[in-house]
Amino acid sequence: MTEAYVIAPPPVVSVPVAGGGLFPVRRIYCVGRNYVEHIKEMGGDVRLPPFFFQKPTDAIVQNGATVPYPGLTKDFQHEIELVLAIGKGGKDIAPEKAHEHVFGLAVGVDLTRRDVQTALRDKGRPWEAGKAFDASAPITAIHPLTGPLPTQGAVWLKVNGQTKQSGDLEQLIWSNAEIVAQLSTLFELFPGDLIYTGTPSGVGPLQPGDAVEGFVEGVDTLSFKIG
Ligand code: MN
Repeated sequence: MTEAYVIAPPPVVSVPVAGGGLFPVRRIYCVGRNYVEHIKEMGGDVRLPPFFFQKPTDAIVQNGATVPYPGLTKDFQHEIELVLAIGKGGKDIAPEKAHEHVFGLAVGVDLTRRDVQTALRDKGRPWEAGKAFDASAPITAIHPLTGPLPTQGAVWLKVNGQTKQSGDLEQLIWSNAEIVAQLSTLFELFPGDLIYTGTPSGVGPLQPGDAVEGFVEGVDTLSFKIG
């Protein structure tokens, strides 16, 4: 006899796949710094390698939804990012094989309570309250990858129709293939993992009522409102 759950198990978090079906999300990994100009605007050292952090799976927000303005912050910021969706797990993946592990691509925004993140960072404390809060991971549908991982393509984000971030995937310090390879040396990857690959410069604050539009060339457009 199988044991029954004593409370209802949480629902599986999923993201729609363009063309049909649902992609179940296991973990959300994020790259901490991967564009030179963004590292400079954050006051970091561009010679240091990128690093990884996580958001909780249920931080996902579907395309077109409204994101509640979170508490505890006076500096709620946007970071537009290409997202890789892992379809085949592995560890110590070679960069040349990385594309075989990626099911598809999406456009995401790594929402950040910048003032909270900076205060935690300056105290040497974990970043969770600044990065891993509820509704901090808007994402589009996932578009199945049909060729190699992209190495170029425009990336931009607009707030109320005004361009705030504008970059190109060719500015990535670590390529998408290198990110998959490096992350898989730290954590074994599994189908369902998402990787937010870092943001170009131009990050800035959002206010209640703002309309946000994010774009990655050849992938999709992400739209959401701040509640
Ligand atoms: Mn980010």
